[in-house]
Amino acid sequence: MTERLYYNDPYLTTFSAEVVDASEDGCTVFLDRTAFYPSSGGQPFDLGTLGGKAIAGVEEREDGRIAHLLASPLDGRFVQGVINWDRRHDHMQQHTGQHLLSAVLEELYSIPTLSFHMGVEASTIEIGAASLTPEQVAAVERRVHAVIWEGRPVQVTYEKASEAAGLRKVSEREGILRIVSIEGLDRSACGGTHVRSTSAIGALQVRKLDRIRGNVRLEFLCGARALHRARADFEALSTIARTFSSPIDQAAELVTALQARAADLDRSRRKLALELAGFQGRELYENTAPSPDGVRRAMSRFPSGAVSDETRALAQSFVSGERAVFVAASEDPPSVLLAASKDSGVHAGEVLKRALAAAGGRGGGNAQLAQGSLPSREALESLLPQLLG
Ligand SMILES: [Zn+2]
Repeated sequence: MTERLYYNDPYLTTFSAEVVDASEDGCTVFLDRTAFYPSSGGQPFDLGTLGGKAIAGVEEREDGRIAHLLASPLDGRFVQGVINWDRRHDHMQQHTGQHLLSAVLEELYSIPTLSFHMGVEASTIEIGAASLTPEQVAAVERRVHAVIWEGRPVQVTYEKASEAAGLRKVSEREGILRIVSIEGLDRSACGGTHVRSTSAIGALQVRKLDRIRGNVRLEFLCGARALHRARADFEALSTIARTFSSPIDQAAELVTALQARAADLDRSRRKLALELAGFQGRELYENTAPSPDGVRRAMSRFPSGAVSDETRALAQSFVSGERAVFVAASEDPPSVLLAASKDSGVHAGEVLKRALAAAGGRGGGNAQLAQGSLPSREALESLLPQLLG
């Protein structure tokens, strides 16, 4: 067993220890005691240095020992460990904030916390509830902050599992439990590192609710993370508000209104584009001289992408004239459209289908309008003359 110095003093940042075991390459080291926290209980491991070598990982082993993983081999028997305090303190804020958040969810709504995960950016808890209303979230945040501002002591005690009463979540462990308490509010069996007072959590922000396995997964930020996030949100919102020359509080409403207006404009633009295509088809028909057989034939290349509504509108407009055949083609992806007036003597669907079969393409349509796709540009170019023939 490695003595865990962080159990009783999570504020300890430097310590000396003796190397009691090491891997052959000297990169995995076991100490008689350590202040390095190993990944467990949803909290990630600490960083820092051991004997001047950077810590790459800290793991809890089945036998109760803690393995320190180093990027380069450690030498010497007595070493000094230095904990990366910014990272550790951040973890302490998130972890204690989680205890408080879970306790308040239980206190206000009897909602249990099922699991906890602390991520690099944000932390999450999965709670035993199918939903949580915005009003409930606001009430939880208010209560959490009232407790933060009271500066309630957060204390660690050791109690026999058989005698420990009033735990938020029943512990499956036996023997001695390490119990972390928020005075007058919460008692939880936990091996993690916590701040010494709720005031040191600083702040707690609920960010996001997701549905997962029929439960709610709640994302939250504490302490410095909440501060940085609030600042980043403010900058983003300020940029939006400046763009619209509006006060921040009106920016959201304005964006919603503008989006609706953009959708309106897009609808009328599309309507106009179809009308325009119709006129263009008509004009093209007027300007196309009939072939000796009396049929007017025209072809247009349309920009890359699938056959658009505009191209179809142009084609239909062209063949709404007497004795007309119209072909539209695009190279990327290779595709083709064939339109024919009823009196043209051309069945668009059949003609195109035959031509496509010979060129290795696919598609079809009715007598007046047919579309298809081809495997290559070459196939497209070999097919086009047949359609205009
Ligand atoms: Zn904890």
